Amino acid sequence: MTIKMPAPDEGILARRDEIIAALREIVPGEGVIDSEREMMPYESDALTAYRQPPMVVVLPDTTEQVAQVLKYCYDNGIRVVPRGNGTSLSGGSFPLADGVLLGLSKFKRVREIDFDNRVAVVEPGMTNLAVSEAVAHEGFYYAPDPSSQIACSIGGNIAENSGGVHSLKYGLTTNNVLGCEFVLITGEILRIGGRAPENDGYDLMGIITGSEGLLGVVTEITVRILKKPETARALMVGFAEVEAAGECVARIIGAGIIPGGMEMMDKDAIHAAEAFVKAGYPLDVEALLIIELDGPSIEVDELIRRVEAIALDCRSTTCQISNSEQERLLFWAGRKAAFPAVGRLSPDYLCMDGTIPRGKLPEALAGIRELGKKYGLRCANVFHAGDGNLHPLILYDANVADEMQRAEDFGADILRLCVKLGGVLSGEHGIGVEKRDLMPEMLSDIDLAHHQRIKCAFDAKGLLNPGKMFPTLHRCAELGRMHVHGGKLPFPDIPRF
Ligand SMILES: Cc1cc2nc3c(=O)[nH]c(=O)nc-3n(C[C@H](O)[C@H](O)[C@H](O)COP(=O)(O)OP(=O)(O)OC[C@H]3O[C@@H](n4cnc5c(N)ncnc54)[C@H](O)[C@@H]3O)c2cc1C
Repeated sequence: MTIKMPAPDEGILARRDEIIAALREIVPGEGVIDSEREMMPYESDALTAYRQPPMVVVLPDTTEQVAQVLKYCYDNGIRVVPRGNGTSLSGGSFPLADGVLLGLSKFKRVREIDFDNRVAVVEPGMTNLAVSEAVAHEGFYYAPDPSSQIACSIGGNIAENSGGVHSLKYGLTTNNVLGCEFVLITGEILRIGGRAPENDGYDLMGIITGSEGLLGVVTEITVRILKKPETARALMVGFAEVEAAGECVARIIGAGIIPGGMEMMDKDAIHAAEAFVKAGYPLDVEALLIIELDGPSIEVDELIRRVEAIALDCRSTTCQISNSEQERLLFWAGRKAAFPAVGRLSPDYLCMDGTIPRGKLPEALAGIRELGKKYGLRCANVFHAGDGNLHPLILYDANVADEMQRAEDFGADILRLCVKLGGVLSGEHGIGVEKRDLMPEMLSDIDLAHHQRIKCAFDAKGLLNPGKMFPTLHRCAELGRMHVHGGKLPFPDIPRF
């Protein structure tokens, strides 16, 4: 399979040796990688179906080096793809043949921990889990917890506005980041936000969070840290019908209860996870909910009782409540291993990520089932049910002619369904190259043009991560003159990718 990316600039490729020498002046030693063999690990991110060696990989160690690399690229018209730890599932850090792949993996230091003000100042290359580990000795943690937390970087989390099981109660990355140091493509260094919850001017932190490496490079992050809840207990509830599980989710939230996490798996996902980790999941149910309540013990005990009653009222067929920390972790072990477990069902799978209003869960599942019949492919479903964030896992075999194409078409139709049901194209994995061409399904021409204007304000030459997130107009100058009337985009002949 191929994806259409901006055509490589032959003039830049012809200057490769000179460019590498200049980058070595800025980042000496082993910070510049240019051999075909050593660049192989950087050819793709977690959207592994696509591969492309970058022109060169640069691994700076300081903000000053990042600024100098970016200024050099700006002055010479060289494209740059920022990369954290390469776990993007939407191809966010997919390299360009004529681009510098700017890796932030050496930025692993904790710069400051301020327990009194409940913030930690960290570098973007730290893994998400390492941030929690750095503050654990005082009973604190960093709340957003993507399943990839052992591997993904906190810088990548900002760029993708990542979430996880606990985002229902504690928010996504955007709700837990207070400020950052940010390097523009011109090499200028900005400090955005700070330690206070409110800052003057536009909410630039809000714009940068989720900007997928298109606006600048994050080199330091100030995150909110939270005290660990006194206790946490989980329920594992099975249902004979998916609709009943969906109703249970809506009723719990409707009752004013916000669980620490509320996840759903369908039958295929339950069977795969159980075979993989032996978590004790019931195998005779169509849907399984794992619901966690956290807080003071007395409150948790009361909430468990209320959730159990709601589940019974929604025709649950099995219900187990964790009575020890070990049991709670076992309930979660299957859910946390659901992605690798599904990998055992089929040679390949495509992990989708779309969001729907919570009440539309049954409709969405029925729609996905119908689409599965149309494309002749199986699909296991895992959801952050409380957020309405679906993760359909489409099973296929890349060795069978046209199966990958069918899987991708199936995935695109699922995302169209999410938008039709009132949802959006991404809950947490970003748009990247994967969903770029579907953006007009969700945003009008005017919406897209306004997003483009923000991009142009930060990166007028369009050098940062081009080909991601937007079916882009190729020059900001043309966008500057653009007026959209009656939904008709002018300059329809301007090249897009
Ligand atoms: C098994 C698995 C499970 C996953 N589960 C979840 C989940 O539960 N929730 C979730 O949200 N995601 C999940 N993901 C997706 C992925 O882990 C996240 O999107 C993560 O935030 C990417 O971080 P990264 O460091 O790997 O970024 P990369 O893949 O390296 O880059 C991702 C994007 O961030 C940009 N970027 C990276 N660093 C910087 C920086 N310092 N400055 C500016 N831009 C930067 C890149 O240009 C790119 O656009 C999962 C992935 C896998 C493989």
